[in-house]
Amino acid sequence: MKILQIKDWGMGLDSESPIIISGPCSAETEQQTLNSCRGAAEAGANILRAGIWKPRTSPGCFEGIGEEGLGWLLEAKTDTGLPVTCEVANATHVRLALAHKVDILWIGARTTVNPFAVQEIADALRGIDIPIMVKNPVNPDVKLWIGAIKRLQNVGLRRIAAIHRGFDTLAQKDIYRNPPNWNLVEEFRQKMPEISIINDPSHIAGKRDLLWNVARKALNLGMDGLMIESHIEPDNAWSDAKQQVNPTQLRDLLESLLAANLTSIDAEQKAAQELQSWRTEIDMLDKSLMELLALRKSLVTEIAKCKKNHNIAVVQLERWKSMVRKRLEESKSLGLDQKLISGIFEAIHEDSVQLQNAV
Ligand code: PEP
Ligand code: MN
Repeated sequence: MKILQIKDWGMGLDSESPIIISGPCSAETEQQTLNSCRGAAEAGANILRAGIWKPRTSPGCFEGIGEEGLGWLLEAKTDTGLPVTCEVANATHVRLALAHKVDILWIGARTTVNPFAVQEIADALRGIDIPIMVKNPVNPDVKLWIGAIKRLQNVGLRRIAAIHRGFDTLAQKDIYRNPPNWNLVEEFRQKMPEISIINDPSHIAGKRDLLWNVARKALNLGMDGLMIESHIEPDNAWSDAKQQVNPTQLRDLLESLLAANLTSIDAEQKAAQELQSWRTEIDMLDKSLMELLALRKSLVTEIAKCKKNHNIAVVQLERWKSMVRKRLEESKSLGLDQKLISGIFEAIHEDSVQLQNAV
């Protein structure tokens, strides 16, 4: 059965601009849910979200308000006239969400990893025509992501979208909460070209300052929408406080990402925000560079000890020559300037020789 793109879901989501899903990470109280959802709606969201059951990595964190929150979500839906969505992780969640008129369901990253859980949800949805979004699994496994979608397709669901929320990988973990691995989204898209992909910069970035970069990149790659967590009072949120934005910040973010005709003042603000975002990322990259240099230095110390114990000269000309050759070759394939790389490695080598002589 053919999967329908979001614009064909028959929910008024057929605009040209990207679909915006926003609302709090978790429904906490009635007022917080209502105010956060109203704020998101006023800031330009097309769909409202709130987590009702929260799958947490460690016990003892806020694990969601449960069924009671579904009533608040329904209030937000009535109040704003917008469709609402929440995460479901088992058949009971599905039954309760449907009973409270949740318009769209989503499967979270910690559930997509588990085919038993996904199949349980699929079985609970057999014969029911409701839209559902599937987050990528926590681990970088595109097959598992696609497998989850196929299980839903197999029970007759047609309105299915994917959410890219980043992966738990070691590389770039110091920058992102869940590194985006854009190549995996591309792989997904090649295998399922017909399916809409929503980017979730909040769970990828893990911090407000990085939302803009991630969202910008996703839109540049032609993704169909964004899921951005927003909260009436982000700093006091019971979950994911650091990554949530307030309604004003959400409006500014969306305006900066989507608006075409900005006044000069807006354009200036937009440029400042953009710059701030890139600088945050550069700062983190530089920090990783220095951490790598420190790691390298500790290896040099080991090498120095080994050379000393075995009476080997500090400078080994052949090794140095072949090292420079290899680095230059590698830098070429990375598109880096040869002069820059040879300069950097000369400085590194000089420092390393000094360090070894000291040992
Ligand atoms: C969420 O969207 O609040 C959430 C729990 O996300 P994920 O499943 O991507 O961790
Ligand atoms: Mn969250």
